[in-house]
Amino acid sequence: MPLLGAHMSIAGGYYRAVDAAAQLGMDVVQVFTKNNNQWRAKPIAPAEADQFAAALAEHRISHPLSHASYLINLAAPDDVLWQKSVDGMIVELERAEILGIPYVVVHPGSHTTSTEAEGLARVAAGLNAVHKALPKIKSQLLLEITAGQGTNLGWNFGQLASILAETKHADRVGICFDTCHAFASGYDLRDKKTYQAMWREFDELLGLDRLKAIHLNDSKKGLGSRVDRHEHIGHGCIGREGFHHVLTDRSLAAIPMYLETPKEDCDGEPWDAVNMRVLRELAGER
Ligand SMILES: [Zn+2]
Ligand SMILES: [Zn+2]
Repeated sequence: MPLLGAHMSIAGGYYRAVDAAAQLGMDVVQVFTKNNNQWRAKPIAPAEADQFAAALAEHRISHPLSHASYLINLAAPDDVLWQKSVDGMIVELERAEILGIPYVVVHPGSHTTSTEAEGLARVAAGLNAVHKALPKIKSQLLLEITAGQGTNLGWNFGQLASILAETKHADRVGICFDTCHAFASGYDLRDKKTYQAMWREFDELLGLDRLKAIHLNDSKKGLGSRVDRHEHIGHGCIGREGFHHVLTDRSLAAIPMYLETPKEDCDGEPWDAVNMRVLRELAGER
């Protein structure tokens, strides 16, 4: 049975995200370890980390995952923003380490005014700088596949592979797969044949053992639209069949999966509860 959960709010304390996940019957949880729209953050007090660990243990929630700030752009051609992004990524990994979170998801970045090749090289150099600054840290980075909106990089497995090929410590980098992003970038999860071909390509270019997390989001926009808009499970262009493929895929059974769907209510019930029910159903659990 797949390990299912969602991105949850840390408002009021890190442990609150875990408590909320437990209330919704989740197995795993994703959090921001700081305000995702700010560079600065207060240091994490040891008591906060202890409370977080205690909540995970109490509710038997595993695979806590961190999502890095949206401000970080390791592909930035501008040196000031690039350095800020490297420093920001270092802080993200340090905070994850304090909280006992093994992986931090980050979007590769946008090449903006430079070229795709320059952008990819810039990301690889950024990863090198982060790894050089943190030679002993256990928490690792996960590059997330993107929808390829605008000049966003990492929207196909080849681009992610070229970042790994150019970085010095590819062994310290994993991958996070996002169903909405993959679909919007052109991978058709709805058809069993193209679904299977996609994972064969992933394995050839990146190695399945590098896959450490999956984001489960349906897509408001169509196949290959290159637009990143999350929709509730089964209500978007991917649909139930596509998620059924992911949720019943034995080769993904050990990979934690997290919803990142809008936080709103559906007839007085949180959508997270509805989406969790649909996921369990599609996984064949009830
Ligand atoms: Zn995602
Ligand atoms: Zn997205």
